[in-house]
Amino acid sequence: MNAPILILGGTTQARQLAARLAAEGFDCLLSLAGRTKEPAAQPVPVRIGGFGGAGGLAVFLREGSFGLLIDATHPYASQISANAAQAANLSGVPLIALRRPGWQRQAGDDWRDVASVVAAVAALGDAPKRVFVALGRNELLPFEAAPQHHYLIRSVDPVELPLAVPQADYITARGPFAEEDERVLLEARGIEVIVSKNSGGAAAYGKIAAARTLGLPVVMIGRPAQPEVPGGETVEAVAGLVAHRLSLQKRGE
Ligand code: NAP
Repeated sequence: MNAPILILGGTTQARQLAARLAAEGFDCLLSLAGRTKEPAAQPVPVRIGGFGGAGGLAVFLREGSFGLLIDATHPYASQISANAAQAANLSGVPLIALRRPGWQRQAGDDWRDVASVVAAVAALGDAPKRVFVALGRNELLPFEAAPQHHYLIRSVDPVELPLAVPQADYITARGPFAEEDERVLLEARGIEVIVSKNSGGAAAYGKIAAARTLGLPVVMIGRPAQPEVPGGETVEAVAGLVAHRLSLQKRGE
């Protein structure tokens, strides 16, 4: 039996990777931050909550005799990815990252690149607009600086403290979102501009494709820097690396 694998998750791909590795006979524990009130069902045992920084994660890895750490967190979850790299160094447990590639601009896309949510709010301009905001509910506060816009805000969990702006509607929904449904939503709500992260993957791409069809601009918040660690871009690639890595460990190489 291989030593157990700790997967830092919170993404669809982490769930898929866990299912794949479990089916291949690996003993996996999936870790979630606990941000989502009703997390999706997971195919392997789950633990929930922070570790108390990189040091806490290193202790967790050692005490659990984990043979491998996989960072399959969201590309914008930069703190946990930095912690994972540091904890791997501290504990000596190897780290593999699953980093899905960002979306690439296509002909017909009208993206306005910005570096942060604050910059995204500024990029909306002074004139009032109808804005579709597809960000986490904990990232919304900067929009209070631009109360002239009408916001349509979609998040996985309900926004508990409504924004201090006069016009905001809230939708609670979990992807995947189909392009056609997104187009219908954008048209029905008279949306003029979208604010999005460049999450990559298929589940959240529908709004980007729909924006292209409708000729709408997308204020695209750029990805934070991530530590350079070995890994792959797809579940298949990372599953292959894991099998290779653990077979080397078994042989003592
Ligand atoms: P973050 O800023 O990178 O992490 C903040 C702290 O939350 C970390 O220092 C860690 O606490 C804890 N944490 C984060 N992910 C964890 C995990 N998988 N297991 C255990 N603890 C975790 O992360 P975030 O942006 O708040 O995202 C939180 C989670 O939501 C991530 O797991 C991510 O995959 C998922 N998610 C994030 C986004 C996004 O846009 N940021 C989107 C979809 C899903 P300690 O230092 O105490 O260990």
